Amino acid sequence: MHMLPLLLAASTSLSPTDTLPVPHAFLDALASGTRTRTGAPGPNYWTQGYAYRIDTRLYPDQNRVTGSETITYVNNSPDTLTEVYLNLAQNVFAPGNPRDRAAPVTGGLQLHRLVVQGEPVVLAPRGALSLSTSERVALPDPLVPGAKAELEIDWSFEVPEGTFRMGREGSEVFYLAQWYPQIAVYDDLRGWVRDPYLGDGEFYLDYGSFDVRITAPAGWLVSGSGVLQNPEEVLTPDAARRLASLTRDAITPIVGVADREAGRATAAGGEDGTLIWHFEAENVRDFAWGASDLYVWDGTVAEYPDGDGGTLRSDIYTLYRPDRPNWDHSAEYARHSIETHSDWYPYPYPHMTVNEGVIGGGMEYPMITIIGGGRTPESLYGVVSHELGHMWWPMVAGSDERNFAWMDEGMASFAEDLAFDDFFEGSNSGLNTMNGYLRIAGTDAETPSMRSADLYGPFGNRGMASYGKPATVMRALRAILGPEVFDEALKTYTRRWAFKHPNPLDLFWTFEDVSGQDLDWYFHPWIYTTGVMDQAVTGVEQSDGTATVILADRGEIPMPAIVEVVTDTGRRSRAIMSVGEWNGRTARVAFQVSGRVVEVTLDPDRSLPDVNRGDNSWAAMR
Ligand SMILES: [Zn+2]
Repeated sequence: MHMLPLLLAASTSLSPTDTLPVPHAFLDALASGTRTRTGAPGPNYWTQGYAYRIDTRLYPDQNRVTGSETITYVNNSPDTLTEVYLNLAQNVFAPGNPRDRAAPVTGGLQLHRLVVQGEPVVLAPRGALSLSTSERVALPDPLVPGAKAELEIDWSFEVPEGTFRMGREGSEVFYLAQWYPQIAVYDDLRGWVRDPYLGDGEFYLDYGSFDVRITAPAGWLVSGSGVLQNPEEVLTPDAARRLASLTRDAITPIVGVADREAGRATAAGGEDGTLIWHFEAENVRDFAWGASDLYVWDGTVAEYPDGDGGTLRSDIYTLYRPDRPNWDHSAEYARHSIETHSDWYPYPYPHMTVNEGVIGGGMEYPMITIIGGGRTPESLYGVVSHELGHMWWPMVAGSDERNFAWMDEGMASFAEDLAFDDFFEGSNSGLNTMNGYLRIAGTDAETPSMRSADLYGPFGNRGMASYGKPATVMRALRAILGPEVFDEALKTYTRRWAFKHPNPLDLFWTFEDVSGQDLDWYFHPWIYTTGVMDQAVTGVEQSDGTATVILADRGEIPMPAIVEVVTDTGRRSRAIMSVGEWNGRTARVAFQVSGRVVEVTLDPDRSLPDVNRGDNSWAAMR
């Protein structure tokens, strides 16, 4: 393993020869053929599989959810498993559980029944497994490669009042995520991934199918990660007809303000006044759902190239309380985001749903997101576009959000900025994002991006390390490689790792593979350290027909330089100096000019995160 100091010392002679550290487990994966040095999955790559069948019921008047599930787990690994690990994320709300965010204490998850491979597991009164967020369950029969195991689990919990990523707003809007016992990831690099759910860190899950039946009072609109299988049973005939006839050129109110009652918003319900909403989802890493009797429901259609000469279409739904400002535009925002992000990889799911309420920000799940807070059009567009960016990273390219938050948050923020600028003409979101990073760059408020999301201080530096800085790092790389090469690399990464589990090295090496360049000198300092870039123009030497611009590197991260000169005839020319042309801390960039150079500007488009732009320009004495 190659060890490097966390910060490149300022006294080091700067050279672009920095090397990415390769962890021992990754070397093993290279040797066993699950990963490759090109960044593509290896010939022996595998992921585990599963199918969930869940029956659940929402009791809004008690703020409770009950459920009964069967998990069919498929061991695609070459290992014989004698145990499985369950994610019991609701236990972050159990008394005494460790967490890194303030949370209401609800009692956590109550387990009522657990049967593993047909054998009941004896539970303590509160449920033997009900305290921690990650619990080991022994398998009575060892699970050999290729074999399946079935687990049956009955459970219930009190839905916490509006909190991080899920919960309820009073008893009128519910959003259920981290709501059912899950099988943890078993992968080629770590085996069982048993990281506890503490609050800040998000999720890492395998891919599988879900068959979910949700019982809710009639009059409550229910939306979920899957495709609704029985609209004619739960909706009025009119609403079911509107749902079936959505078009791209209209925002259709499937359920409008005048319809919000049992028998109008939904079908009338059975004898007990409930309806069962049946959803199915394929090839997803999770399932979330929402419900309210105050929602209206808008629909439209997104259309985008399938990458093979054809066109794909996906329904767009938004569900919101009609008094929430700007939500009447939410379907338009979601349609634009899905269509724009589909340039990276065609959106692979049959619909996308945006639910309003419950939490202050936004949170992504496959095919569904929850977004709360009062918002301007720009703010609502931005959060919609960001959360929908997550449908690509990590929902398609299934990275580990808890340990490598920058991989999904950075990429979603980067894609959000590009989509935002496409929607709101004349904006420059990437520049705003970069300026946010530059305000804390190199200060004690900064922490490296390459760190578990649960290992940041409580004052916001996780946000910069995971969102704004990596988005800025991607934007700058796009300027250095050029949009064609960068875009091809990001598309290749997303396609190669679709429905798989990329590690950061798979991303870095795919960019190197596609660009044909060693980029360790770029990724290592930007992602693993808090070093800064600071270039300066220190002078210009002029002789007949030639002007040589003298540059200085005053930061810790050597970077290419984008140099623009203006001559006294008003002629403007630009050169890009590669990172290899630094000679220690200085560099010389020669221009063939007629006349004298009177102005020099470094990075005139502000595409690189230079921490001090005060020394980026030079003007001749007049
Ligand atoms: Zn995000």
